[in-house]
Amino acid sequence: MCAEHLIPIVPQGGNTGVCGGAVPDNSGRSIIVSLGRMNGIREIDAANNSITVDAGVVLADVHREAQRVNRLFPLDLGSSGSCQIGGNVSTNAGGIGVLKYGSMRSLVLGLEVVLPDGEVLDCLKGLRKDNSGYDLKQLFIGAEGTLGIITGVVLKLFSRPTHHTTALVGLPSCDAALDLFELCSSSMGSHLAAFELISGMQLEAVIENIPGTFRPLEVKYDWYVLLELTDDALDSELLERTENLLSGMIEAGDVSDAVIAKNLNERERLWRIRHSVSEANVRQGHVLSHDTSVPISRIGDFIRTCDEKLSHRLPGTRLHFVGHIGDGNVHVVVVFPDSEAFDRNWAQISEIVNGIALGMHGSIAAEHGIGQSLRQSLRQSKSETELRLMRLVKESLDPGNIMNPGKVL
Ligand code: ZN
Repeated sequence: MCAEHLIPIVPQGGNTGVCGGAVPDNSGRSIIVSLGRMNGIREIDAANNSITVDAGVVLADVHREAQRVNRLFPLDLGSSGSCQIGGNVSTNAGGIGVLKYGSMRSLVLGLEVVLPDGEVLDCLKGLRKDNSGYDLKQLFIGAEGTLGIITGVVLKLFSRPTHHTTALVGLPSCDAALDLFELCSSSMGSHLAAFELISGMQLEAVIENIPGTFRPLEVKYDWYVLLELTDDALDSELLERTENLLSGMIEAGDVSDAVIAKNLNERERLWRIRHSVSEANVRQGHVLSHDTSVPISRIGDFIRTCDEKLSHRLPGTRLHFVGHIGDGNVHVVVVFPDSEAFDRNWAQISEIVNGIALGMHGSIAAEHGIGQSLRQSLRQSKSETELRLMRLVKESLDPGNIMNPGKVL
């Protein structure tokens, strides 16, 4: 009916996106299609390491279902308790597990999609290998609902880690964090599951604003890394190896101090700091957050350049850096004291930050998507050829432009 009457459709999952991708325009003509009640687990195939779910299943419920058959679904975000799988696929969500397991795109085996003309595309296969022509499902992953409505997904499952070693490390500089990353990845290999960078001011913002959080190291440092190593062997020497690695670095002066979680409770307390970042920043003021990525080798340059170009411009505001070093993804967060300062400055500041990232062959949308908020900037970040092909795909699948219009392109 929507196709026949050219009525715009806005698919909506958990509504936790940060780029306005699930928010309709002001025309008052759009129909919001909420997937929230389409939330069944269709099938778990433990031998195939796959789970087939409706698009409206909450991410944390997929974690629970996987755990029930002693498997892991590794996508993990701050909003796990409310974001939905359909939205995770539509935005090609990232989060803290990308370093080891990849972003959502690499976790999807199959999709079911309602096309703009109402036909159902059934690609719900749980295959690891299938070279029979174009891989159509990839078109809809990260398309933010502009090509169709994702209704079902086959996801990859993994063996469940038996051991976690989680540490918070204090560091004198972000270059020291990159050195630590290189050492951890070369000596720990695929055991390295997460490597999160948090600037000193950002950590303080969490401690000040989120009840129940605490400063894990006695002294304040300019930079912190929250890292996690996992092992699925029965006998693991990870803890010992991590202790040796970190104490060696402390002795050499490359790392200032470190604390390793002794039990599950301590591990959760360390992760709570990382997961509370967005909430803490919102409590501090009016937040402008960027979703930039650069080659890992350029992260130090990127942070220094942002700091140089922004700090003198921003009296009365706070500048935080937080992100996923292993993915080259740094969120540059500017917290304005009031909405007036935000309105006056946000456009110019975003142009500076995104410009620095693009100048280093980076991306302005590493894991959140384009939605409405980065639509204009997309034109600076893609070549004419890329944009032309993207438009061709959109026009051929959705000639009436009814699928989530005004988003991405
Ligand atoms: Zn992130």
